[in-house]
Amino acid sequence: MRLRTTHPTARRAWIVELRPSSGGPQLVCQQCDHRGALPATASARSAALEHLAGHARRDVLPPYLRTCQCHERGCRWHPRHRGCAGPIRLLLARERGGRLWRLADACTACASVTEQAAMVPETFLCTAVVSSDSVDRRRKRRPRGPGDHIRVREMLSYLAAALPSHTGAGARLLAVQCALRMDSQGRVRLPIGVLRSLRLGRDPLPWSELEQARWLRRTPIVSGSAGRVVVAQVLDEMLFAPARPDRRSAADWALRMAKSGCEGTVDPVVRLTALCLAAHTDPSAGRGCAETDRIARECGLVPAALYPVLDRMAASLISWSVGLASGDLRWELLPKGGQCQQAVGRSSGAGSPEG
Ligand SMILES: [Zn+2]
Ligand SMILES: [Zn+2]
Ligand SMILES: [Zn+2]
Repeated sequence: MRLRTTHPTARRAWIVELRPSSGGPQLVCQQCDHRGALPATASARSAALEHLAGHARRDVLPPYLRTCQCHERGCRWHPRHRGCAGPIRLLLARERGGRLWRLADACTACASVTEQAAMVPETFLCTAVVSSDSVDRRRKRRPRGPGDHIRVREMLSYLAAALPSHTGAGARLLAVQCALRMDSQGRVRLPIGVLRSLRLGRDPLPWSELEQARWLRRTPIVSGSAGRVVVAQVLDEMLFAPARPDRRSAADWALRMAKSGCEGTVDPVVRLTALCLAAHTDPSAGRGCAETDRIARECGLVPAALYPVLDRMAASLISWSVGLASGDLRWELLPKGGQCQQAVGRSSGAGSPEG
């Protein structure tokens, strides 16, 4: 039986609305008295998330008391339902064409069938902005905290919540690099070499997609390094946190993973999917399992569009399948340095939704 609590404070679901007004859209919170103009530099998504995250931070509850808020309300937030299951996570959902944003505790089953929603990693709720002079950037620190693949996994999950669902794969690959390489003030200097590794080169499209989403803003270069770096300001304050050495190492890992097994292709969708699978793979077993909707969302795709991409990943993927009952995607990655020729033979016909 599912544990319930009668305390109203245990209702971990918060909603903000965007209301039109003469001075531009207003962000109105249904929980507190907050009512303020939407900042010109911020997207509705990040402004809403920032306010809602404040509630989630203040209304903490021990994990054993957290329940699926979707279930508590009769599962009206999503169409189909096969019962609550899985751990409780924070889910950011967009409704009524972006006029309403909701952050709520939801079980994994409900989260995976909620449209226009993405899970927000809890680690992003514990942000502490430190002044830049308190962080000695020269001193090499030993990496600590989660491993590179966990850090990248959390970033992909976060970006699935923070960026509009139509954001392209190139822009998402770029956002991962910017988010992991920026300083504690959100500034990032991205070397052209990194962009080349991402096969984005001088393509302006991914940048303008992120600018249109009001996720970052490119800034003109003042020094003589024009042409060698792109300088940008990340506008998403939720991401501002110290510990750059850890993030840098995760950024380098993400760069390698997006490349591995994709040497022959420049298609950013394949590269992003390769990165996403690597981030969700158990490094010791080389296998992974995750909700299909979640992987698709992190790749900026609908599940039906994900399957053909998986079929094109013969150089890095041994096999993949989708469980009919669970809806989970399972896969096995080719060991690093494996033979591509072998992989083609072994993977042909292996991947398909299970019958
Ligand atoms: Zn509020
Ligand atoms: Zn539900
Ligand atoms: Zn549920």
